Amino acid sequence: MQNVDLTADKEGPASGRIQRANSLAGDVYEAIFAQLMSLKIPPGSRITVDNLVREFDVSHTPIREALGRLEGEGLVVKTHLIGYRAAPQITRRRFDELYELRLLLEPAAAAKATAALDEERLAVLQEAAGVMARRVGKDERLRYSNFARQDAIFHDKIMEFAQNELIRETLNHQHTHFHIFRLMYHSRVTEEALDEHEAILAAFAAGDAHAARKAMKVHIENSRDRLLPAFE
Ligand SMILES: [Zn+2]
Repeated sequence: MQNVDLTADKEGPASGRIQRANSLAGDVYEAIFAQLMSLKIPPGSRITVDNLVREFDVSHTPIREALGRLEGEGLVVKTHLIGYRAAPQITRRRFDELYELRLLLEPAAAAKATAALDEERLAVLQEAAGVMARRVGKDERLRYSNFARQDAIFHDKIMEFAQNELIRETLNHQHTHFHIFRLMYHSRVTEEALDEHEAILAAFAAGDAHAARKAMKVHIENSRDRLLPAFE
């Protein structure tokens, strides 16, 4: 079972040369990730290594590395003799199942996490939510993909603090946020979620487990309703 650590530190060793190589690989990865999340590379479409080599003016190595990493995250599928493709869009049925699963697990986990929160953990969640709110950078696609990743981290951190690793892994394994953010590329998806995250944080800060459960339920239901038009 793949268990992607969404919070993995990307900093490389202190050596300048290696660090440059790391940051090139990281930049290439981020650029392809942003294209996938913002639908510039549409779900199900062919991804040609040579095209990306030309587009980014880099060698094959960082492209292949990035695609391998994206494959591990469920965003890219590699087929023998055919090559890489963007993962297909999730089906309506899968979407419904995913939200049913989330509604069963995440509100309860938010309530449970409330009791486990201290200043330090609350700050971690506030930081994750804060990064999403900051509208930095000119590249709209990059901003969108950063939001998707940060949203994944925010929700995953709450699961971590709820202290059930099996539930956390189960949700992680769905790569929920990478799939749902690819349903449509629209600022509404990100802007409305910010207020809902604030409500969750306010309940956490007040130590109110009941309110945290409710705020998480509202957030997930609203998220579902925002994305449903993608299937029309
Ligand atoms: Zn969220």
